Amino acid sequence: MATKRDYYQVLNVVRTAGDKEVAAAYRKLAIRYHPDSNPDDPAATEKFKEAAEAYEVLRDPEKRARYDRFGHAGVESGGAQFHSVEDIFEAFGDMFGGGIFGDLFGGRRQRRRRRGADLKCDVELSLEEAAKGVKKTVRFGRSEVCGTCGGSGAKPGSARETCRQCGGRGQVVQSAGILRVQTACPACRGAGSMLTDVCEDCRGQGATAKRVEMNVVIPAGIDDGMRIRMPNEGEPSPDGGPPGDCYCFVSVRRHELFERQGNDLVLQLPITYCQATLGAIAEVPTLDGPDALEIPRGTQSGDVFRLRGRGVPDPRGGPSGDLLIQTHIETPRKLTAKQEDLLRQLAELEHTHVTPHRKTFLEKIRGYFTSESPDGAAERDRREESEA
Ligand SMILES: [Zn+2]
Ligand SMILES: [Zn+2]
Repeated sequence: MATKRDYYQVLNVVRTAGDKEVAAAYRKLAIRYHPDSNPDDPAATEKFKEAAEAYEVLRDPEKRARYDRFGHAGVESGGAQFHSVEDIFEAFGDMFGGGIFGDLFGGRRQRRRRRGADLKCDVELSLEEAAKGVKKTVRFGRSEVCGTCGGSGAKPGSARETCRQCGGRGQVVQSAGILRVQTACPACRGAGSMLTDVCEDCRGQGATAKRVEMNVVIPAGIDDGMRIRMPNEGEPSPDGGPPGDCYCFVSVRRHELFERQGNDLVLQLPITYCQATLGAIAEVPTLDGPDALEIPRGTQSGDVFRLRGRGVPDPRGGPSGDLLIQTHIETPRKLTAKQEDLLRQLAELEHTHVTPHRKTFLEKIRGYFTSESPDGAAERDRREESEA
């Protein structure tokens, strides 16, 4: 998938553009790239869709605010979902009213049949599955046209007969005092006809609820909260139009070692005081198995080491993330007699060989306690100068 262009750039407006300016900019582009004026030009159709998507976000103050703060990620879920030019006509057909635009859209809309409803399903992945990509089986409920009656709801061989209560009009007039109210016929629910014999398989509904089981290919690098569109796997259309889509919502379980931050992975690595001081080779886990990390002499608690490209692949085809390894020095809670003895010897040495950060810290607190007046700092600086 190509990287998305900035919505303001798409509509060619400044970031502070008002609603009218945004609408005018979209209208201009929509006319220029309208599929009827650019037949068999996929590039124009793409531009037409891109403009509609940008407009769909920028015309909505809430979505626009989210987009301004978080970019495309802020409006990804619940953002624009235009799969086809028809969807755009559906969304924006009315907004321009009459004129050339209304006519163009209007003509389209009349020929259009309703799309089936979208469905959703869920899939839960381990971090490894999300990072490497995986094929998963998902299950969800979907209504399917009854095979026995072909969707009519009538028992095969039987037919619909005109409703006796309303005489086929579908409406009945009820009187209540001086009021005469016309309502849908309760016997045929407004249809004007009734089934003589109901299809036994669907009980006259014309459709049956089915459990659907389906394989979905999860691309490598997918993250928690993303979703995968399974085109045409939604509900069937009620009137012979295209089916809806099914959206597979992805959740990724917490990993006991790695925490994902964007496409990077963060690993907390406990090391000993001696490893930090003297340097060491530590074995670290990665998604591709164990690897060796060189910890240099003098490593501090909190230092971060980066293994380039060892994070998670970018689901949109960008560069892979890195593995960030953050060290923290673990202080032993229990010591053997020998360890204690050695550490006490070390502690005595530390009195005579003070480390640089501790040295400046000690100097700072000395200054803090001796300088009550605002001149204290200056006085300390002078002293430090004379010491240097
Ligand atoms: Zn049936
Ligand atoms: Zn009736």
